[in-house]
Amino acid sequence: MVPSPAVSSTVELAQQLIARQSVSPVDGGCQALMIERLIALGFAVENLRFGPVDNFWAKRGKGGPVFCFAGHTDVVPSGPVDEWRSDPFKPVIEDGLLYGRGAADMKTGLAAMVTASEEFIGQYPDHRGTIAFLITSDEEGPSVDGTKRVVEVLRERKESIDYCLVGEPSSEHTLGDTIKIGRRGSLSGRLTVHGIQGHIAYPQLADNPVHALAPALAELAARAWDRGNQHFQPTTFQVSNISAGTGAPNVIPGELRARFNLRFSTEQTVEGLQRQVEEILQRHQVKYSLEWFISGYPFLTTPGTLSAAASRAIGEQLQITPQLTTGGGTSDGRFIAPMGAQVIELGVINATIHKVNECVRVADVDRLHAIYRRTLELLLAS
Ligand SMILES: [Zn+2]
Repeated sequence: MVPSPAVSSTVELAQQLIARQSVSPVDGGCQALMIERLIALGFAVENLRFGPVDNFWAKRGKGGPVFCFAGHTDVVPSGPVDEWRSDPFKPVIEDGLLYGRGAADMKTGLAAMVTASEEFIGQYPDHRGTIAFLITSDEEGPSVDGTKRVVEVLRERKESIDYCLVGEPSSEHTLGDTIKIGRRGSLSGRLTVHGIQGHIAYPQLADNPVHALAPALAELAARAWDRGNQHFQPTTFQVSNISAGTGAPNVIPGELRARFNLRFSTEQTVEGLQRQVEEILQRHQVKYSLEWFISGYPFLTTPGTLSAAASRAIGEQLQITPQLTTGGGTSDGRFIAPMGAQVIELGVINATIHKVNECVRVADVDRLHAIYRRTLELLLAS
């Protein structure tokens, strides 16, 4: 067996985190490991467990500005283990890649936050402001007892965050090419169209819900909801599921069920979208019932001090200029941004997240550490 070459303290910590199996909402001891390192640096740490979810809030320093690293220790299930090249919970480095569930989403990000803080505090023990950590084990799950609850506690105490760096894997092709400065909102609908079942040869005695919905659906699918704006792509509408029919070829169905989702920009409101959808259904005289689910409001951090510092750190380390975008799915940033914080997401490449053989470039882990450390320095150096 070839001994593995020496790795940096960031990669070593990432490996230790990956080896602690933490399928959402289980934390698996990851937070204890982070907390041990933070306490050694002089952080005051508070465990905030809600229901089955472990969270912690840690602070070091005094007053503002408050710079907070945010992230999650939970991971999605491995999927079929025999399709993995190696055990998903035994980190392996091969050809410069670190493999394991959570390697990209987001245990290397967590490791880089800890070691960046260690190095920064070693150099600036009397840094200005406060360094904080807001860590949850419920980002990949329902996201009810995680960051959302911790933010409620902080708001009750009138604690504030000025700058929040979420270590989610934001990069697309190369490390640091993308910083997320916001996210679109997500609104889902569960639609039932009511018709009258009947013999296909006697349509006058039935009411076909498929035919009733089709023209309305065509209009919804073709609709230009808005053109987006400087920071957001246009709002989109997609049907995810649709079903009707008994399976028999000679029966007009009595009911149609569909699910759809709108990803929306700051040009729209939830109420406005609901009104537009229902207006179209009603104009086409569809008989329906409709349940709505809001999974997140859009948020945006207009480019400012935090994104400028992170962009500069990336420019210095990697000689590239990151694009600032709001694409992709939702994240816990949606809970932190309403506190008035500047929120960005900056982490490793997201190409393999949630997949079999999730991996990250070992060299990127150390570069991410350097970017985080430099960002801290630009904002909090004494
Ligand atoms: Zn994640």
